Amino acid sequence: MTIRVLPPEVAAKIAAGEVVERPASVVKELIENAIDAGATEIRIEVRQGGKRLIRVADNGCGIPSAEVELAFARHSTSKLSSVEDLTRIITLGFRGEALASIAAVSHLTMLTRPADEPVGSYLRLEGGNIINREGRGCPVGTMVTVENLFYNIPARLKFLRSETTERQHIDQLITRYAMAYPQLRFSVTHEGRLTFQSTGSGQLSDVLIKVYGLEVAGQMLAVSSSQPRAEDGPSEDGQEPRVSGYVSVPTLHRANRDHLTFFVNGRWVRDRMLTHAVEQAYHTLLPVGRHPLAVLRVDLAPAELDVNIHPAKSEVKFLHSERVFATVQKAVRRTLVEQAPIPVISPQSGQWTAADWERRQALITADRERLPTQLALDAQRPGEFLTPAQQAEDKLPPLRVLGQVARTYIIAEGPSGLYLIDQHAAHERILYEQLIAQKEQSPAQALLEPTILELTPDQIAVMEEQLPVLTRLGFTIEPFGGSTYLVRAVPAVLVGTDLRQALAGIVDELAEGRMSPLAHEREKRVIASVCKQAAIKAGQVLSDEELRELIRQLEATTMPRTCPHGRPTMIHLSQAQLEREFGRR
Ligand code: ADP
Ligand code: MG
Repeated sequence: MTIRVLPPEVAAKIAAGEVVERPASVVKELIENAIDAGATEIRIEVRQGGKRLIRVADNGCGIPSAEVELAFARHSTSKLSSVEDLTRIITLGFRGEALASIAAVSHLTMLTRPADEPVGSYLRLEGGNIINREGRGCPVGTMVTVENLFYNIPARLKFLRSETTERQHIDQLITRYAMAYPQLRFSVTHEGRLTFQSTGSGQLSDVLIKVYGLEVAGQMLAVSSSQPRAEDGPSEDGQEPRVSGYVSVPTLHRANRDHLTFFVNGRWVRDRMLTHAVEQAYHTLLPVGRHPLAVLRVDLAPAELDVNIHPAKSEVKFLHSERVFATVQKAVRRTLVEQAPIPVISPQSGQWTAADWERRQALITADRERLPTQLALDAQRPGEFLTPAQQAEDKLPPLRVLGQVARTYIIAEGPSGLYLIDQHAAHERILYEQLIAQKEQSPAQALLEPTILELTPDQIAVMEEQLPVLTRLGFTIEPFGGSTYLVRAVPAVLVGTDLRQALAGIVDELAEGRMSPLAHEREKRVIASVCKQAAIKAGQVLSDEELRELIRQLEATTMPRTCPHGRPTMIHLSQAQLEREFGRR
């Protein structure tokens, strides 16, 4: 094919696609415009998950009648006039693309009036073309109605998810903005029913109650505003970034990172660095694989920030990202230390690694009411952990099962003393060796109904990366548009688990830490994380028969003493140790 310039309507649709991915993107752009217009009240009306209708009405400054049409021209904006302005953006919009993009792919009407004009302007566009314009009476402010989104892009329309899913995206977005702007009154109706309303009181805690409910909101801690402190060292040029908002107490946590919400200079952003800073502040305080809730606002000089990264404006680049990281991490950590009771950790010999501790915490939390018995506590004394060197290639002697403790550990007797075996870790080891052995033809199980996975941006990145490995292991996973994936088959070991949870767990685990560049190392890690999901959990009651079978299979493994993640599967109390402890020697 020869090179040709695209016809304008094709170019416009392509450009629109970058801004408007789904109904929630329309809501986002319209809300941002209302905020930029100085509105104090923003009403959002949605029908059929936004596919049928999205209406955003504000009481902001309105658009002068002479400029209404210009607002829909591509790259027309009242918020920016020079390249230098890009370094001092304080508005949410600046690209002048949103209205043009939305209008290009929908039927759109605008009704708007500034305070100093007696009549409002009414404008109707279809596919970006103005088809009607007239004067009309209306209150001061702007109302934009978007109907039949993507009516002229069937490909995009096809990829939209169910009404429920699109509606959830919209709700999540609106509640985020309501949290970022507690001084504004937001209200949302779906099919004419009011489903969310913020008071506009200016108190973030009021919005948290509306978004998360009283119980959860009551467990959120206000982040102590981070006045620069002496021990933080002097800030370099200009100001220290400021952090404010709320974070969850360590006992409140979630399985994914969806509840980490960040606003940078009032703009909702996705940002791995900020996520990481918060999670690091919780280091060792949360059970493994669990994530905190946070609503944090970071403010810094506009020149410290590049907001012009992506048409959807949901990513930013920090000029001094280490400094932002440190400020956020310290502010959250300080909040937790000062306000949340932290369990006192005092292992006698300091031989426990952080991982040991985290694992123990996770088990205790998972099984809070069933505290380990005194025997288990004694045996968990740090000094009793064997070093990996001792364990290598150390086959297990035949063991006689005595019972289960705290629904988590198996007690067994062997020729040389007592064994306490972690049922989950042991099962992980068993499954791991089985899967490694059959790697080339792992039995896969087709699902009668495909499982639908809705992934976060972080998870999608991992999924795309590891899809070949997952496929080799027996998964059949297909992208299904946007953040959705269809799972049609899984490795047989996963049958019977909660698949959605298991898959999310696998993807989340892979998202953490660096992936080895070596293919076989990567594969091992993926296998290990599959095993973690498939394995019997702590807290699960096992029959005598099941206990014996588990131990029998563990005896057959080549490395019975560690789980695939390298943690111990068992604690061995030798005959000699028992005698010493009881003062017999
Ligand atoms: P941007 O927000 O990047 O400037 P948009 O396409 O979203 O670009 O909007 C174009 C212009 O239309 C804005 O710069 C603003 O002047 C005007 N505008 C859009 N929405 C509103 C609104 N709700 N109230 C007042 N003015 C608005
Ligand atoms: Mg805008």
